[in-house]
Formats: sequence, C-alpha cells, structure tokens
Amino acid sequence: MYKLSVVISVYNEEAVLNKFFNAFDNIIPKIKWDYELIFVDDGSKDQSLPILSTYVNRNLKAKIVSFSRNFGHEAAMIAGIDCATGDGIICMDADLQHPLECIPEIISKLEDGYEVINMIRLSNKSAGFVKNLSSHAFYKVVNILSSQASFEENASDFFAISKRVGDILRNNYREKNRFLRGYVQSVGFKKTNLTYNAAERAGGSSHYSLRKLFRFSISTIILYSDFPLKLGVYAGVISATLGIIALIYTWCTYSNAPSGYATIVTLICFLFSVLFVIIGIIGEYIAVLFSELKDRPIYIVEKRVNFEHRFHDTPKNERIVSGI
Ligand code: UDP
Ligand code: MG
Repeated sequence: MYKLSVVISVYNEEAVLNKFFNAFDNIIPKIKWDYELIFVDDGSKDQSLPILSTYVNRNLKAKIVSFSRNFGHEAAMIAGIDCATGDGIICMDADLQHPLECIPEIISKLEDGYEVINMIRLSNKSAGFVKNLSSHAFYKVVNILSSQASFEENASDFFAISKRVGDILRNNYREKNRFLRGYVQSVGFKKTNLTYNAAERAGGSSHYSLRKLFRFSISTIILYSDFPLKLGVYAGVISATLGIIALIYTWCTYSNAPSGYATIVTLICFLFSVLFVIIGIIGEYIAVLFSELKDRPIYIVEKRVNFEHRFHDTPKNERIVSGI
C-alpha cells in the first residue's frame, strides 16, 4: 500500500489546531493510502506544541518536529519534507486555508504518475486588495526577470510532490535563502495543476505582513535572476550615450557653458541615484552570498515525537516509537 506524508507548518496556531484535527479526522476515511501527518512546530510561543502533543498521543500516525526557535515557514516545510517517508508528500498550512477536501483528488493525480501537483488558488478571501495585487505584480516581475523558471501565478505553499522530487529537494536544494514553491516548479517532471478556493483563516491572524512579503519578494527575485546585477552595465551604456549626445550638442551649438548649470546639477543627481541603486542591488546579492557562505543550518530541531527511527541529531535519551 502506498503512503502519503502530509506536512503541516505550525506557528502560533493554538486557535485553529483543534479545528484542523477535527477536519483531518473527518477526511481520513476518504484517504485511500496509508498516511503520516508531520506537524512542524516552528518555535511557537503559544500553546500550539502542547495541543499538538495531545493529538499525537491519540493518533500514532501523527508526528511532531519541533524547532528550537522560529525559523520561518520555508524552513518548516523543508524540515517536514526531510523526514517524510511517504510515496507522495503534501505541504499545507495549519489554518485550514488549504482545504483538506483536496487530498483525495491529489492522491488520484499521484496515482496517475504526476510528480508535481501545484495547487492554484482561485480566490483568497482573507487577503486584501493590496496583497492580491502585489502578489500578481510579484509573479509578473519574477517571470520576466528569471531565465531559469516560469512560475504559476497564484501557486501557493500548498503543493504535492512525489517521493523522487522530495529526495531531490532533500539532497540538492539546500540553499539558505529559500523559495520552496519555486523549486517545486522548476525541478521539471510530469506536473499538473489543481485549483482550490482559499477559505478564510479558521482562527488567529496571518503571520505575513506586507513588509515581510516585500522582503520575501526581493530575496526571491535575487535568487532567481541575475538581471538586476546587469542593470549597472545597461545604466552605464545609456548614461555614456546620453553624455556623448550632450557633448556633441554643446559643440554644435557653441552654447554658453555657465547657462547649463541646471542641466549639470540634474545630470549629477540622476547619475548618482542610478549608482546608489546599483550599489544597493549588489549589496543584496552579497547578503545572499554571505548567508550561503556561513552555511548555518536551515533549522535546528529541539525534539521529535512519534518517529520510528533516529536522526543524526536525535538526542541519546529521546524515546523512539517503534512499530507505528
Ligand atoms: N508559519 C510558520 N512559520 C512562520 C510563519 C508562519 O510555520 O514563521 C506557518 C503558519 O502557522 C501557517 C503557514 O505557515 O500554517 C502560513 O502562514 P499564514 O497563514 O500566517 O500566512 P498567509 O496564509 O496569511 O499567507
Ligand atoms: Mg494562512
């Protein structure tokens, strides 16, 4: 029998977890495969971890990976993928915005041999106009700038992959600055899209402010495109051409030099601003290089619950559950 791994990232979700468990328990009879539920607790400061612990005590197919602190949603997803043992892996949020009712449909796509299943959001009821518009603009910009991949607009952090794609993400995509849904779309293989309507959050509030999303967008563009780095060359060529035109114009018209004062000031301001923008862009790339160079771990695990085997960082005294 095939096995499905469902990876759920959890950060301060005490308001929704019980609703999630109920919804999942209701869907279990419709899941044809064996399954494991991997909750990745991303350093929650509320009661999420104790609530998860009570659930995994009664459902031995549910497991917990708990981080030593908050490492972010991307790290939580990759940690879940790292320890998933299923033939198919689904990543989804804990707040029920990603409908569990899609799971049977995802399984039938996996059975059809699809290795990457993008869940495309038709509408996002809880995202405001600005969030929806900026998400649209973000995908447009990344797709224009990136030569390596084309991203589905409205693809979300809700997706399913085969065991083979999971292995590739586990072994070959260990960058510290991550954009998992981008990796999933750029690995290739047979892929398909399913659509869903993002529901309202079942409780609590979103952890992604517009500022956080903006930072995330900039680092993703930097990850996928070296075009911004080349802007310097283009800006240089354009300003040199403008300079030559201005020079020829001055020669031809024999204009009186001091009268060009305003032009000079404008030109200097313009060129300096171009220069600063380019230095800023280079700074962003250096920051990415620096964090890769430091080679710090993507996440640090404090404890794991209900896993049947040891991991390289499992403490000696940690109880391993066998025969799940
Ligand atoms: N999340 C996480 N770490 C974080 C922030 C969020 O694991 O630092 C989880 C969160 O618990 C949820 C998912 O990532 O399951 C998506 O977060 P959220 O719902 O706040 O984002 P939105 O749906 O508003 O984009
Ligand atoms: Mg959400």
